[in-house]
Amino acid sequence: MISRIDLRGSLPGDLRDVLPRAELDVEAALERVRPICEEVRHRGAAAVRELTARFDGVELESARVPAEAIARALDGLDPAVRAALEESIRRARLVHRDQRRTDTTTNVVPGGTVTERWVPVDRVGLYVPGGRAVYPSSVVMNVVPAQEAGVGSLAVASPPQKEFGGLPHPSILAACALLGVDEVYAVGGAQAVAMFAYGTEECPRATMVTGPGNIWVAAAKRLLKGLIGIDSEAGPTEIAILADETADPVHVAADLISQAEHDVIAAAVLVTTSPGLADAVDKELPGQVAATRHSERITEALSGRQSGIVFVSSLEDGLRVVDAYAAEHLEIQTADPHAVAARVRNAGAIFVGPYAPVSLGDYMAGSNHVLPTGGCACHSSGLSVQTFLRGIHVVDYSRDALAEAAPLVCALADAEDLPAHGAAVRARFDWEVPS
Ligand code: NAD
Repeated sequence: MISRIDLRGSLPGDLRDVLPRAELDVEAALERVRPICEEVRHRGAAAVRELTARFDGVELESARVPAEAIARALDGLDPAVRAALEESIRRARLVHRDQRRTDTTTNVVPGGTVTERWVPVDRVGLYVPGGRAVYPSSVVMNVVPAQEAGVGSLAVASPPQKEFGGLPHPSILAACALLGVDEVYAVGGAQAVAMFAYGTEECPRATMVTGPGNIWVAAAKRLLKGLIGIDSEAGPTEIAILADETADPVHVAADLISQAEHDVIAAAVLVTTSPGLADAVDKELPGQVAATRHSERITEALSGRQSGIVFVSSLEDGLRVVDAYAAEHLEIQTADPHAVAARVRNAGAIFVGPYAPVSLGDYMAGSNHVLPTGGCACHSSGLSVQTFLRGIHVVDYSRDALAEAAPLVCALADAEDLPAHGAAVRARFDWEVPS
């Protein structure tokens, strides 16, 4: 069901060439989403409706979800799901509240200060996927950090669902209601990102768009980046597990399956020093897969080239492999998981030991589940309060402090052959500052 890669012996120079990874060609998808974005740019809400009919098979009168539909969804929400969402929100708030930044003022010289002021972006469009699966949990993971950052205007977009009268899934609307978000659009894919980036008659333009999604969402974010701020590319889910012979194969198999459940191109990778564990996991997988509802999707994900079991000679090599892979989610299931986890440098989130499965992080750990995929974890972070903040340097120098710095400014301005820079300082002092 799952392929094997043997890296025992010496590791290749560039590990990324040999590790399993989805062939997700976002660059190629750019050409497909470019006309979609152009349509929305030029024809606004009418284009959004037409694209929704084409890609989601839903005829919308308006993309904006009426307030009554949001309230109705909350009324109809299963009490057990409501309780779980409320607790998920509470835990996420605890973690994200602690991420808030305080302004700092540095006294650089007497009379000269630089203050770093943290200011939230004005308006954010939050994308909540809804193609193969629906993700009320992603509403929580998008909205909570934006709210804790102090973003003033928040709008959510999620694909319309045919079986729910062209509205986003009721659980998504209910999660919006629980979080106090009343601006929701029944729009998915690239057209949702373009709607936020350009604005339409129905949806004011946003300054930033965040959230996970499929290749069309990722491509639209990459295409429109700059015009609009984006978070990291959070594409098809990945799990890597670094495990030794002490790991429980039942847990390892269950965790690989849990993330393969997201998508046929989701990636599940086990990196292990133990052939015995690999054999036991292999034996465990078919039974567990057969017993779960989305077994077809999971089988395709596990047997795809993006998934596999990687053998390494030592945990040292295992660490090199998982750092090169830079998984969205990395579990450490070894004899001393804390020590091993402390040495990991590249991962979206790390799950330590036998009692921190990724699905805890998907819903209830308090951590954020919108995380960088496709190796982006080597340079990007998951969604956080910081995503929605800009640090603005506020420079405040007295006359004396500028006078003291003036010859230094002039020296560097002359060295860069930008004499007008120096002149702007000299102009404030007439003859007082030697040139
Ligand atoms: P989605 O909401 O991202 O995409 C559905 C939309 O894609 C549809 O509304 C449609 O408009 C558009 N679309 C479909 N086919 C198209 C086509 N041929 N051309 C143009 N547009 C098209 O939902 P999804 O497809 O289920 O994907 C969600 C993804 O998000 C999954 O891969 C899942 O693993 C991932 N995910 C990632 C994270 C993370 O943090 N990395 C979290 C949750 C989900």
